[in-house]
Amino acid sequence: MTIVIVGGGHAAGQAAASLRQENYEGEILIIGDEPHIPYQRPPLSKQYLSGEYGLDRVHLRPARFYESKNIDVKNGVRVESIDPDRRRVACNDGTEISYDKLLLATGARPRRLATTGGDLPGVHYLRTIADVDAIKADFQPGRRIAVVGGGYIGLEVAAIAIKAGLAVTVLEMEDRILKRVTTPTMSAFYDDLHAGQGVAVRTGMRAESFAGSDRLTGVVCSGGDVVPAELAVVGIGIQPNVELAQAAGLDCADGIVVDEFTRTNDPNIFAAGDCTNHPNPLLGRRLRLESVPNAMEQSRVAAANLADNPKAYANVPWFWSDQYDLKLQMVGFSTEAERQVIRGDPATRQFAIFYFDGDTLSAADAVNSAREFMVARQLVGKRVDPDKLADPDVDLKAVLQAATT
Ligand code: FAD
Ligand code: NAP
Repeated sequence: MTIVIVGGGHAAGQAAASLRQENYEGEILIIGDEPHIPYQRPPLSKQYLSGEYGLDRVHLRPARFYESKNIDVKNGVRVESIDPDRRRVACNDGTEISYDKLLLATGARPRRLATTGGDLPGVHYLRTIADVDAIKADFQPGRRIAVVGGGYIGLEVAAIAIKAGLAVTVLEMEDRILKRVTTPTMSAFYDDLHAGQGVAVRTGMRAESFAGSDRLTGVVCSGGDVVPAELAVVGIGIQPNVELAQAAGLDCADGIVVDEFTRTNDPNIFAAGDCTNHPNPLLGRRLRLESVPNAMEQSRVAAANLADNPKAYANVPWFWSDQYDLKLQMVGFSTEAERQVIRGDPATRQFAIFYFDGDTLSAADAVNSAREFMVARQLVGKRVDPDKLADPDVDLKAVLQAATT
């Protein structure tokens, strides 16, 4: 029995390790097109960009782990096509590899700003180790950096860049930063935080093109404003890598379509991680997630199913982001909530916002409040008294005990 995993990222690495934990003893082969063993992307916009971490701390597991578990890893090789009838994949090094079961963990790639000047030296995207190495070479104190996109990538890069002595401008086309992932209260808090550190956050600014002849000199925004900059990092979202699956005849719709057992419409092909569109029974709808917890949990579930230990994927989504000395932890989707209460005081930089649909907790965002976050994860989907949750004098344990389904 041979299981081939396409993609050498977080989901691929986790799935291979989990297959062994599921007591699967057959062959495992990971094929990834990057020249690295599976690694974690979160440090790329944080500790690896700042120089605090070296590559050894970015790798998901050391190389010897794969040897010790008899997991083959082919780096720098791209799977070009899948033949589902013959159960073979064809790679760009000319090899064809047979599989009994295939796991697609092809992830996602940055959405590009399709515009003039995008190839100028100084214009960067951030997804891979190679991307960060190129950014670091350009990261010189005193330079001006325009960060395009006020999402997670943009704001994490802004936090590192200002500490590294660059002059930082964030350009966000919406009326507030983090609009895709959180509420106006939290966006305002992060706006103040960055402004307090010296970052110029400019909302309502859609980057339209890049100016310069042999190197970037500025970012041209809608309305004609030019923001002078020697370098730009563009973080305007991602698109899932579905083309391989699509060409093989697999169903795709904003991601590779899988069921709760991570199965595609081909009985021998499974998928996990950023590339999937999957059902969430707790939320009652399908979704595509872009997060490490999803990549890890869905891969564990895929491994169980590949090893014939049937398991369904049903987790409440959660996320985190590190900016400066603040850890933001989020559970559920706050942007869809009807009502919110705050526990703690944003001025102390330690607080949590709890979001409700009626009297049911639907989501929470916690800043430097690990305990509130842990409790929120257990409370989502339960009926809770918002006033008690908002009152710091009421013990969280008591709130947890009083919650009902
Ligand atoms: P990926 O990590 O995208 O891995 C897929 C791999 O497959 C890639 O190496 C790709 O090149 C390869 N591949 C694709 N097609 C082929 C093919 N045909 N043949 C061979 N190989 C192929 N999430 C969080 O939860 N918290 C964070 O703080 C956080 N920070 C992040 C910071 C950055 C800078 C980035 C970019 C992402 C961050 N994320 C974070 C998101 C998180 O890293 C992703 O959700 C996660 O990496 C998804 O894992 P994956 O394995 O599904 O996909
Ligand atoms: P993102 O969270 O989608 O944010 C991109 C932001 O850029 C959005 O607000 C978007 O607005 C805006 N934008 C789009 N086009 C623009 C333009 N032309 N000019 C100015 N702003 C523009 O995506 P991201 O920050 O690039 O992150 C990419 C991926 O990495 C995501 O999967 C993310 O989850 C992941 N990541 C996660 C973390 C974390 O969890 N801590 C950290 C880093 C990265 P619209 O919403 O209107 O398009």
